[in-house]
Amino acid sequence: MLQRLVPYAATQGLRPVQSFFPDLLWRVDTDRREVFLTFDDGPTTALTDDLLDLLAAYDARATCFLIGHHVEEHPDLARAIHRAGHTVGNHTYTHLDAWTSPQDSVRTQLSRTTMELEDLLGTRVRFMRPPYGHPTGAMRTWCAERQQRMVMWDVMPGDFLKTATAEQVASFVLDNVRPGSVVVLHDNPICEGVTLPALETILSTLDRDGWSFNAL
Ligand SMILES: [Zn+2]
Repeated sequence: MLQRLVPYAATQGLRPVQSFFPDLLWRVDTDRREVFLTFDDGPTTALTDDLLDLLAAYDARATCFLIGHHVEEHPDLARAIHRAGHTVGNHTYTHLDAWTSPQDSVRTQLSRTTMELEDLLGTRVRFMRPPYGHPTGAMRTWCAERQQRMVMWDVMPGDFLKTATAEQVASFVLDNVRPGSVVVLHDNPICEGVTLPALETILSTLDRDGWSFNAL
């Protein structure tokens, strides 16, 4: 029951605090009907290929926050994401929780993942998202020094929750999206059966209403 409140708390509940953290990106400042879809925790053999096919069917670009050790296991998938025109961001090496980890480990993981992605893809990493949405001061300093923008979100439908259904996730996004919204979804196996069917509804509905889907 409480899980049902998570998307509201993490979306409407956080909107009032967004302006207190201007170094963090919550939403892109635009009046146009454009939305910034983001996908965390990949690349995974369970979902990433199908995700890329679905995005391509709508000529949609997105931003994928990749876990370093997943990239090491599936470099071909990371290359496919990049080749398809999506932006690739830093989601640490092991998905560590910065609120409960030594800050030295956080910095090491952020640097290691950056180096790995830049070597593999030949492009500069410009964005990072803290796992669990848990930023710390050390992370913010690291991002400022390395010129990676920390990306939070404006719409979090909670596709990772045990109670999530594709219908709920899709209608939550459609009810809460506004111009420039950054939407968090996951190509994580725990979201299998939820995220992609929800995404199909989100893409077809917003596309029909004249929205575009852009990468950061
Ligand atoms: Zn994550």
